[in-house]
Amino acid sequence: MRSLFFLAAFLLAGCQTAPVTGRSQFILVDEADVASLSAAEFSKMRKLPADPRLPKLREIGLKIVAAARRDDKEGVLPPASRWEFAVIDDKSPNAFAMPGGKIGFHTGMFAFAPTDADLAVILGHEVAHVICRHGAERVSQAVGVAMAAAVADEATKNSSAKTRSAWMAAVGVGAHYGVLLPFSRGHESEADRLGLLFMARAGYDPAAAPAFWTRFGQAGAKPPEFLSTHPSDETRVRQLRSWLPEARAQMPKRP
Ligand SMILES: [Zn+2]
Repeated sequence: MRSLFFLAAFLLAGCQTAPVTGRSQFILVDEADVASLSAAEFSKMRKLPADPRLPKLREIGLKIVAAARRDDKEGVLPPASRWEFAVIDDKSPNAFAMPGGKIGFHTGMFAFAPTDADLAVILGHEVAHVICRHGAERVSQAVGVAMAAAVADEATKNSSAKTRSAWMAAVGVGAHYGVLLPFSRGHESEADRLGLLFMARAGYDPAAAPAFWTRFGQAGAKPPEFLSTHPSDETRVRQLRSWLPEARAQMPKRP
């Protein structure tokens, strides 16, 4: 019975709000824990540190991060010096963000992003995943399910060792799959909207976003990060167009 009270306490502690949209979030895990698990995964990836496109990626990425700070009420975004941008030796057209500020850009993605504004579209979207703590939220969902099972188990058998092992299993699942699980449709839309604001504030025309996604959709490119749960291309482009006035209003004024 006592464990039910613990569960209730955790659920209350887990309620947070996403920036800008104000959506309620269920976050049980410590952002720092997810960040260190992510760093371990990131260190194993095939990076190309001498790729000539990397400095540009970092430059635009850090501009986006600076533009995002206005919405970082909880201090989720690491300082500029802690961000890591990497070109990943992988022909699939994909990019990803990990908690703690690790951003990976596959070599196969560059063909779809010939301009700085295109890079800003993708980097804006990825930085938005970080500031919204989508990684921690995904892991929390897995931990929450396992906890509920463990609590049910304990209620019948009163076995604290089992509760612990279920916890560990859930955290282990998070370590291997959680950080790279495809995000939900809701997460993708949230990252699209915030990404649009961030790129506009950094001085890039947000109209590049619906144009990028239209091209991407027409090419039939379906990278894992945007896999089955991603909004359909038409929905995504329609939503992005509807958010353009909000984003344009935040563009720096020309002298
Ligand atoms: Zn995404």
